[in-house]
Amino acid sequence: MRLILLGPPGAGKGTQAQRLVEKHGIVQLSTGDMLRAAVAAGTPVGLKAKEIMARGELVPDEVVIAIIADRIDQADAKRGFVLDGFPRTVPQARALDDLLAERGLKLDAVIELKVDEGILLKRIETRVNEMTARGQAVRADDNAEALKKRLDAYRAQTAPLVDYYAGTGQLKTVDGMAVIDSVTEAIDGLLAPWAGSSARRPRAPRRAQRARAPKAKTGRSRAAKGRAKKASGKTRKSAGKGRKAARPAARKGARTGAKRGRSNGRGGTRKTRAKRLTRAR
Ligand code: ADP
Repeated sequence: MRLILLGPPGAGKGTQAQRLVEKHGIVQLSTGDMLRAAVAAGTPVGLKAKEIMARGELVPDEVVIAIIADRIDQADAKRGFVLDGFPRTVPQARALDDLLAERGLKLDAVIELKVDEGILLKRIETRVNEMTARGQAVRADDNAEALKKRLDAYRAQTAPLVDYYAGTGQLKTVDGMAVIDSVTEAIDGLLAPWAGSSARRPRAPRRAQRARAPKAKTGRSRAAKGRAKKASGKTRKSAGKGRKAARPAARKGARTGAKRGRSNGRGGTRKTRAKRLTRAR
């Protein structure tokens, strides 16, 4: 799944992006975060971006386009990504179209978080207070003067993307003024057609494997064991045909090891381990 979150500073893009990451096993690509990391590390890009960002202006298109081109080629982005803060100008949107087309990829949706401008200053003040209370460094551009510039930049350079993506038929809009969970629900609703195909699945099988593992003395509580067993049951139901196909192969592997009678390095032969495995199943 490949998504864009669109909206002014303080619209909640970062918060919703994190939830999408959790739910769909995709990565969040935030150009703001990447640029801040570059500034902190003092890289050439960081040095170029530092003052521009502090003023609340936009970093040159070619800089962020190069960062994104590099990032979407990395292994963890293969499953999909949610872009947060990119594209921010029409030339960036065109460059993204080209980058995706060159790789044979396509965008699934562009989600606009629609908010009243009046609320943004308040939201950013709240963020500053929360970060200060947690002892975190406040962003150099989270002040009234830079925020005004960021909003100006949004209106002049980023807002035209709403029309751009309406034109491609990819734009979907949610009410970003609602409480965080309601915004998440609205986004989930929009993405329902994709949820089945890209939802993250490894959790249940991993738990199931733990439940079947031949470790007798795990020191786990009864309740924990019960939970693991339950998870295992669920997986078996949902695994269906795939599980049936996988099991004989696993058994075969265990027998082969047992025949050879080699040590498994954990105080037993493969044969004894294979027996335990079979019992545990
Ligand atoms: P915001 O809270 O304003 O949405 P971000 O963390 O997305 O903040 O971005 C912070 C700053 O980083 C921007 O004001 C801008 O200077 C720079 N930046 C981030 N993304 C881009 C981009 N796609 N194009 C140009 N500049 C960007």
